[in-house]
Amino acid sequence: KDTPVVGHKRVLLAAPRGYCAGVDRAVIAVEKALEHYGAPVYVRKQIVHNIHVVSELENKGAIFVDEVDEVPTGAHIVFSAHGVSPAVVNAAAARGLQAIDATCPLVTKVHREAVRFARDDFQILLIGHEGHEEVEGTAGEAPEHTTLVGSPDEADTVEVHDPDRVVWLSQTTLSVDETMETVRRLRARFPNLQDPPSDDICYATQNRQVAIKKVATDSDLVIVVGSANSSNSVRLVEVALEYGAKAAYRVDFASEVKQEWLDGVCTVGVTSGASVPEELVEELLEALSDAGYTDVEPVKTAQEDLIFSLPKELRKDLSGQM
Ligand code: SF4
Repeated sequence: KDTPVVGHKRVLLAAPRGYCAGVDRAVIAVEKALEHYGAPVYVRKQIVHNIHVVSELENKGAIFVDEVDEVPTGAHIVFSAHGVSPAVVNAAAARGLQAIDATCPLVTKVHREAVRFARDDFQILLIGHEGHEEVEGTAGEAPEHTTLVGSPDEADTVEVHDPDRVVWLSQTTLSVDETMETVRRLRARFPNLQDPPSDDICYATQNRQVAIKKVATDSDLVIVVGSANSSNSVRLVEVALEYGAKAAYRVDFASEVKQEWLDGVCTVGVTSGASVPEELVEELLEALSDAGYTDVEPVKTAQEDLIFSLPKELRKDLSGQM
């Protein structure tokens, strides 16, 4: 392991960090919709959980709404990367809205699992955070069959109808370690608990956690760029603290970094959540450089090449343009 010279100020920059394939696609979908159909384009909920991205899109003519009944009949509406329940899809159709579904394909995968297990009459123990949009969308696929498990402690008390017909699924952006602890405690009570057919916690969430674990071990302080409602960003702060960072904070912008955080700090670990554009990380690195942290060492634990094609409704309309 690298032993820094005492007093030498440096940044360990985690990779992968920042935009995942699902966020990239969702943001481009709104931009393309604005270009192609013209403003305004309505978006249900924040397209991705980042206040900077949302305000940039607002400047370009996107209007963010909470529910489809706020959208004028016949208008275009984009569903966010976190996914929507069938009830929302139906409400949009009933209102005559032209929907563009920017749900991340890895969230859609979990929706399909929920539909399939509900059809086979399983009770789905959905591990996730109550009130999070993704959880509402996934649970909405099979509300009668779904029970939310919000924490490892809830695994000890959750009630099931038939312990031989239970499966666990999860939100895509959870802490891998905490989720495994929840599953361990569920399985202790329900030995026949089924696993999802493949990981529900997505590659991007997993990769960012692996990278920050490596960085945190050698960091006095970890700064995570990401918004407060970004599940995967908040998890990165928790994981950094668990893996040895003496302190860890989340900021939306570099200007939020407090001088006292840096007191006596030699090594600052830096990462960003899956909804965070790289320019916000660059601004943080500049601020750190001004504070004397000019030496930036990348810590790379994986290579990401995944790209998702645009939502099919948009692809169709864009191809008609050519
Ligand atoms: Fe998709 Fe994962 Fe990105 Fe969410 S964090 S948009 S599930 S790739």
